[in-house]
Amino acid sequence: MNGKISCGLCLSSIDCDDALFDEQAEVYFCDLGCFEDWADDHFEDILTQYKELHLYPVG
Ligand SMILES: [Zn+2]
Repeated sequence: MNGKISCGLCLSSIDCDDALFDEQAEVYFCDLGCFEDWADDHFEDILTQYKELHLYPVG
């Protein structure tokens, strides 16, 4: 993939080579800082996803 994409948080234009991609939300980010700020705003979604992936009844 070539060219510019926009960050899902700050909406700035970034090179594909430098971007991070969240394959779950299908959103691009500049860096981990932007992802973490975005994650703060999407805490409920991330919590739901985490529970589906990692929590199982023991008994
Ligand atoms: Zn950003």
